[in-house]
Amino acid sequence: MTASNMILKLDSEIDYNVSSVRADFPALSLEINGYPLAFLDSGASAQKPIQVLDRMDRAYRSEYANVHRGAYTLSQLATDNYENARITVANFLNAKTPDEIIFTRNVTAAINLVAYSYGRTFLRAGDEIIISHMEHHANIVPWQLLRDAIGIEIKVVPIDDRGNFLMEEFEKLLGSKTKLVAVTQVSNVLGTILPIKEIVRQAHNIGAHVLIDGCQGIVHESVDVQDLDAEFYAFTGHKLYGPSGIGVLWGKLDLLNEMPPYEGGGDMIENVTFEKTTYREAPARFEAGTPPIVEAVGLATAIDYVTSIGLEKIANHESKLLTYATNELAQIDGLRIIGQADHKAPIISFVLDGVHPHDIGTIIDSKGVAVRAGHHCAQPLMDRYELAATARASLAMYNNTDDIDQLVDALNYVKEIFS
Ligand SMILES: *Cc1c(COP(=O)(O)O)cnc(C)c1O
Repeated sequence: MTASNMILKLDSEIDYNVSSVRADFPALSLEINGYPLAFLDSGASAQKPIQVLDRMDRAYRSEYANVHRGAYTLSQLATDNYENARITVANFLNAKTPDEIIFTRNVTAAINLVAYSYGRTFLRAGDEIIISHMEHHANIVPWQLLRDAIGIEIKVVPIDDRGNFLMEEFEKLLGSKTKLVAVTQVSNVLGTILPIKEIVRQAHNIGAHVLIDGCQGIVHESVDVQDLDAEFYAFTGHKLYGPSGIGVLWGKLDLLNEMPPYEGGGDMIENVTFEKTTYREAPARFEAGTPPIVEAVGLATAIDYVTSIGLEKIANHESKLLTYATNELAQIDGLRIIGQADHKAPIISFVLDGVHPHDIGTIIDSKGVAVRAGHHCAQPLMDRYELAATARASLAMYNNTDDIDQLVDALNYVKEIFS
C-alpha cells in the first residue's frame, strides 16, 4: 500500500464508511469468474441497495393494486405510495410543487417528451437548438427527429482536447434564433462537469429555454432546480441506485401546462367523447396509462437512501477515489485517459496502446472487473477523439480502493497478454 493510499483509506473512514455502504448492496458480494466483483460500470446502471429491493418487494407483496382508480383500500395505498414518491422526488430537487414532477420510463422518454410536445408547440422551421459535443444519443436523436419533422437547426458547442465545454464558443452560437439549449450536466464518457448554471444564465439572457440532462449529475451532486432555473431537468432512476423502468422529467409548471399531451390514453384525460377530449393538467397530462407504480416507490427509497447518507459525503468519497484511480491508472505504460477536464465527476474513459477496448473489457472480466467498453452512446464524441471506442470505469458511492487496485492488476494482466 502506498502512503497516499493509506491516507485516503483513513480519511474516508472518518466521515464515510464505505464498508457499511457496500454491505447494503447484495450484488457487491458476488464472485465473478472466481474473483470478487469489482463493479466499475455504475455510469451505465448502478447496483441496488437492499433498502430499495425490500421496499419494492413489500410494495408488490402487500401494497399492490393499480393507482388513481380504485375506491378500495389497496388501491388507495398504492396511490398514496406513488404520489408520496412524487413528493420525495420534488423535495429532492427542491421543485416548487410535486405537480412539476413527471414520471417517465427513463431519461430517454423524458427528453423525447420535451422534443415532441414542447418542440412541436414552441419551435418553428429555422429556430435553433444548441447541444454540446458530448451529448448522449438520448440528447441528440430526439432533436434530430424534431429537425426532420419541422425543420429546426441543431448547433453544437465544441469542446477542447481535454474535454472542457467551451463557454466562449457557446456564447458565439447563442443568437436570436436560439430557442432551446439542451445539454448534459456531466459527460457520461469524459466525466466533464458542465457549468450548467452559467449556461442557463447565458441562455436566458437571449430568451432561450434550457433543458438539462441530469443523468450523470444527480448521482454525484445535489441539485436545486429553483436555484438552477432551467426550464427542464431530467434524469433516469436506475443510475441513482433505483430500479430501471422509471425516469423523471421536472419542468416549470406553467410551461408544462402549455404543452400538449405526448401520449394519449387512460389517466391523462379529463373527459372523453368521440368528438372531443379534454386533458388534465401536469403531471397527469403526461402520464398516460398505468404508470411505473412500484418503480416510483423504489426510486423514492433510493433517494431516501442517498440523502440519509448525504450527497456531499458521497461526492467527497467519490472525488477522493477519482484522484486515487487517476493516479494509479496514469502509472500504467501505454494507458491514455480520455477526458481531463478541469471539473470532473468520477468517470474515467481510457484506451490502452495496441489493445481494443472490447478486449480490455472481456479480459478484465475474467478477473472479476466490470467496466464498459464501446462508444457509450456518444458516437459524435468518439469521432471528436478519432476513436471507435474506449473502456470506461465509472465510480459510485460503494466503490473503494480495492476495486481500483483490482482494475489496475487486471489491466497489467491485459498488458502481459498483449506484450
Ligand atoms: C445513461 C444516460 C442517458 C440515457 O439513460 P436511459 O436510462 O437509457 O434513458 C442519457 N444521458 C446521459 C448523460 C446518460 O448518462
